[in-house]
Parts: sequence; C-alpha cells; structure tokens
Amino acid sequence: MSAAVELSRHELDVTVFESGSLLGGRARVVDAGAYTYGNGEHFLAGAYSETLRMLRALGVAPKVFRRLPFAIHTPAGVQLTASTAPAPFGPLLSVFRARGLTLQDRLAMLRLKRALRSATEGSVAQLLVATRQTTVLTEQVWKPFCLAVLGTTADSAAAQAFAYVLRAYLRDSASSELLVPRVDMSELLPVPATLYLSRRGNSVRTLTRIERIRLESGRFTLDGDYGEGSHYSHVIVATQADTAAWLLSGFDSLTLLRNQLQALPTEDISTIYLAYPCAVSLPGPIIQMTDSIVHTVTRRDRTIHGVQELAAIIRTRDAHRDRTDDDLALEAHKVVERFNPHLVMPNWTKVVTERNAIYPATPGVIRPRTITAVPNLLLAGDYLESPGPANIETAVCAGLAAARQILRSLRPA
Ligand SMILES: Cc1cc2nc3c(=O)[nH]c(=O)nc-3n(C[C@H](O)[C@H](O)[C@H](O)COP(=O)(O)OP(=O)(O)OC[C@H]3O[C@@H](n4cnc5c(N)ncnc54)[C@H](O)[C@@H]3O)c2cc1C
Repeated sequence: MSAAVELSRHELDVTVFESGSLLGGRARVVDAGAYTYGNGEHFLAGAYSETLRMLRALGVAPKVFRRLPFAIHTPAGVQLTASTAPAPFGPLLSVFRARGLTLQDRLAMLRLKRALRSATEGSVAQLLVATRQTTVLTEQVWKPFCLAVLGTTADSAAAQAFAYVLRAYLRDSASSELLVPRVDMSELLPVPATLYLSRRGNSVRTLTRIERIRLESGRFTLDGDYGEGSHYSHVIVATQADTAAWLLSGFDSLTLLRNQLQALPTEDISTIYLAYPCAVSLPGPIIQMTDSIVHTVTRRDRTIHGVQELAAIIRTRDAHRDRTDDDLALEAHKVVERFNPHLVMPNWTKVVTERNAIYPATPGVIRPRTITAVPNLLLAGDYLESPGPANIETAVCAGLAAARQILRSLRPA
C-alpha cells in the first residue's frame, strides 16, 4: 500500500491486487462484530517515522493512537519507563528512575548502551554476556524485550537488530513512545490508503489472487487479473516471502532469489483475546511475562458497557502445539488473575493463531533486496533487507523503496 500511495502521489497509474476480502494482510481486522478483534494485537513501539509520515500524508488524525511512554513492566516488579527528555538525558533519566533495579543493574545497562554502537555480530545472548548484564536485567528486561521486538529468543536473535532497535529507542523522545492503535488495523492505514488511491483514479481490487506473473515483449501480464487482461510496465510483488517465491516461479533467472525467499525463517504467533464483565487492572500498559507461556498481556483500548478487553500474546506458538485454544485462554486468564485476585472468568475469549506471522531477526539470514534480476520486477515486504526487524515500519519503508526505484527508472536519462 505504501508503494501504491507513493506512486499515485507522483501521478502514476497504479492497481493494487489483494487476494483477501479484507485489507491489511498480517495487520488486519478479523471480525468487527460485538467484540472486534484482529489477527493479532499490534503496537508501534520504537522508530516508526515513515509509517507516521505516511499516515499524516493520508490525513489520518493523530488521535488514532493512544500515545504512552514506552515501558517495560514485569510481575517481579521491574519498571522501566522511557523518559521523554531529549537524548542523552532521556535515556539516563530512564535508567536512573527505573524501579526494581540495583546500582549494579543500572551500571550494566549503561555498559550495554555504550556497546550498542559497535554491536554487529552474534546473538543477543552473546551481547548480554559480553556486556556483563546482571541476571535480573537479562531475565526480566532484555529477554522479554528481545522476544517482543525481534520475534525470537535472545539465543537466536541477532545482536545487530537488537542494537538497532535499542539505538532507535534511545535516539529521540518520539522513538521511545508506544503507540497503541485505537482503531482496528485495517482502518489504520489500508482504508485511508484505499480512499486516497480511489480519489486519484487508482484501484484496489480485493478478492483477486494473482496466480502467475508473465513477461512478454517487455510488458508484464498477471494471471488472475481477470478485469482487463492489462499489461503493466512494472510489477511490485508485495506478498509474504513464500508467496513471492511461488509468483516468481516463471523466471529462470530468479532461482537463487526464490531459494532465499523460501529459506527465510518464520514464527507463528497466537493472540488470545479476553473480555471481562468488570474492570481489570494491569500494573502497566504492556506487561512482559517471564514465567508463563503467555509472553505479553495488554489492556485493549475498548471498554464497552463495562466490558474490559485484554489481549495476551504467545510468540513461540510452535513450542505449544499440543495445547488447545481453551488451554491457552485459561493460561492467559491465570496471568491476568495474578494482578486481579478474585477475578471472575472472562465471558468471551478468542484465540487467533497466525501461521508464519513474522520473520524473526536471526543472525546470518540473507534477506533479499528490492530489485530483482528481472528489470522492473520488484519486491516489497517486511522480510526485505533492513537494519531493523520485520515489522510495519520495515514494510512501509520497503514499499517506498520499491516505488522510488520505479520513479528512478522512469526518469529520462
Ligand atoms: C500476530 C501478529 C502480530 C504482530 N505485531 C506487530 C506489532 O506489534 N508491530 C509491528 O510493527 N508489526 C507487527 N507484526 C508484523 C506486521 O503485521 C507485518 O510486519 C506487516 O503487516 C507486514 O506487511 P507486508 O505488507 O510486508 O506483508 P503482509 O501484511 O503479509 O501483506 C501481504 C499481502 O499480500 C496479499 N497476497 C498474498 N498473496 C497474494 C496473491 N497471490 N495475490 C494478491 N495478493 C496476495 C495478502 O493477502 C496480504 O494482504 C505482527 C504480525 C502478526 C501476524
């Protein structure tokens, strides 16, 4: 969508094909009924500057987000809240004001901060050892933080991506905000983007699955584009990596790229939505659990008729394949109950498991680039090469990069 908006902004004709009936891909609403829920709870935590720029350009009001200082709360009593003071005072203030940490912990944090500039190789676990992080910090802060932002454990996450995320948090006060969408994820960017495109005469065709891309006499045709059988000068493949590999199967020169796309590791995520008929409190906006199969619990920004909705996230779903949805819902309820003794059972629960939800930031993985060996056939998506983790910001940046590549190719020599 970001690629389409950018191209349309430059007066190019664009058509977006979406196989699903709903817009948003891996960040979409699933049901907008009495209990609205999505395919997973999404937050914008860290540097999301291009996403926010795009939302502003689309006229999306800032009030679509609840803005909070980024904070780490754990049941063991560690509380670390990002200060909004400018760097370098903000990060120092955050470390100074953190609760549940000793002087050793604070000094270890400052050691890690200094090491971030040069952290390039190895895993997060190795970085934590090399910078002599204390047990409390390692177990209560860095491991859950790593899992939350990089989608994998400290043992298998790349130190480079971890350092990139932390540097972004520390750089300026805007990056240390936690933005919690107040609207469902399809409403956040895809719907305003679709309106923008249609106002400019471009179309978004849902329920249109592209089956194959063909190149004939320098023009692309798309199998599945039943509307007009049009020819296109450029194509951006903006699907998940495995689908991109399948769509590119007609091009012999892209065999290596297809292998790279198929080799990218993915993780499944389960999100458990719970609704309680009473007020439910949590000690912070997002609680990172360290001793439960549930990794994160958060209160949703919806209280309708006294019903409080919460979401609990399990990021390593594969490890709990034998557990039923009811098991997972009960596990999530038990976590919420820890902060709310005598809590009644939820009156509604829903478990949504998204297969291949994210591309974890693991060391040594080769991420493809925007351009392919076939001229004017480009890739976009969160899995592409980027210093940061695969998330919404990376997906938006990848779309913009693909659009700008096309704009460059059209410029007179
Ligand atoms: C449960 C969960 C929680 C997450 N939490 C966060 C979070 O808190 N913060 C964050 O920043 N990111 C989060 N993410 C990651 C974020 O959702 C993704 O990084 C982002 O949505 C990727 O966007 P994309 O455009 O690259 O790919 P996608 O969203 O996967 O879009 C690809 C699109 O291509 C369509 N498509 C596929 N095949 C075809 C075809 N043949 N023809 C036409 N269309 C096709 C799909 O239907 C889809 O709409 C989360 C993801 C999940 C699943």
